[in-house]
Amino acid sequence: MMMNPTDTTTDARPLGGSGGRGLSVDALEAGVRSGDRAVLGRAITLVESTSIRHEAMAQELLQRLLPCSGSARRVGITGVPGVGKSTFIDTLGMHLVGRGHRVAVLAIDPTSTRSGGSILGDKTRMARLGVEPAAFIRPSPSGGTLGGVARRTRETLLLCEAAGFDVVLVETVGVGQSEVALRGLVDFFLLLLLPGAGDDLQGIKRGIMEMADAVVVHKADGDNRVRAEAARGEQAMALHYLAPATPGWPPPVLLASSLTGEGIAGCWATVERFYAELGPAGTIEQRRGQQMRAWFDDLVREELIARFRRHPVVQRHRPLLEEAVARRSITAIRAVRALFEAHDAAQVVDAVHAVHSVGPAPGAGGSGGQTGRAGA
Ligand code: GDP
Repeated sequence: MMMNPTDTTTDARPLGGSGGRGLSVDALEAGVRSGDRAVLGRAITLVESTSIRHEAMAQELLQRLLPCSGSARRVGITGVPGVGKSTFIDTLGMHLVGRGHRVAVLAIDPTSTRSGGSILGDKTRMARLGVEPAAFIRPSPSGGTLGGVARRTRETLLLCEAAGFDVVLVETVGVGQSEVALRGLVDFFLLLLLPGAGDDLQGIKRGIMEMADAVVVHKADGDNRVRAEAARGEQAMALHYLAPATPGWPPPVLLASSLTGEGIAGCWATVERFYAELGPAGTIEQRRGQQMRAWFDDLVREELIARFRRHPVVQRHRPLLEEAVARRSITAIRAVRALFEAHDAAQVVDAVHAVHSVGPAPGAGGSGGQTGRAGA
């Protein structure tokens, strides 16, 4: 968990935590809607905050802006460190800005700590896009679980769309789970590979290949060119045997160089073709619907677990039951049942006390008789 709710970044100043004067939700809403990048940065800081007071404000802001979200091309970009993601995004981003797009760049990187400098979404690594007025680069939210980081990135994406960014590029490092989170966030998933031929696939697992809507053999320039052509053939073969990530869209293998710019326009043309071919059929809307449902489901699960663990009766009985399971004096399933029975019984007691307005149940819901029986 990130402990400091008023983290500062280059994009956003503190929201006025204790004693400071922050922007009101009205002001944030108006600023975001008008595409003001400074206000957008502050809105994102609000959304990233873990303070309860900020959460209520953030959710109010998100609720108001929800109707103006959803209009961007959402593209995920992944690949191992060194494959050239930052350079690719810089070049692609400049290409898009040149065509009149407004481009936001976000990142999912659960390992990033802002104090140490985020390894992703760093402005210095996107030298041209970083100073481009039509672009907005935001480092990964720092700290916390992958789920927490992905949630904040999702909400940030919504804010960027509301601010009129019509292309959102979301980057992640190729380390396994964060790609799964990214896939659940974007419409189109692009995998960058190095032009080294061979079956090592640079540590890219089959599971990640299966998520790709396009594979780009990157750095296809100079001496790499011939190897890149060979790698392209191999990748096409490999993909041929996998089920496409998006039904009706066999993922193409492309060549590109961010140094020469060759192939970059072709990469974007592929993304546009994806929207043109699958948009009218409703495939993309369907995917977004599924993503939202899955996200809602995740949040329900998280909330249930958190509430359950917080309950005083659970806190009281859990260590004993855990010990008993470890000592093999009770089966794990029986211990789980006992814990839930104790919890449910305490809930009933709480409810009865609430009805009779006698305040909280003694021992915060613990009724000796019932919990004792259940926990035995
Ligand atoms: P990231 O870790 O995936 O973000 O990779 P970077 O964008 O930082 O790039 C890693 C290295 O690859 C840098 O030294 C870049 O200059 C180099 N690089 C990036 N794109 C290209 C390219 O298209 N061709 C070549 N030859 N080198 C590139």
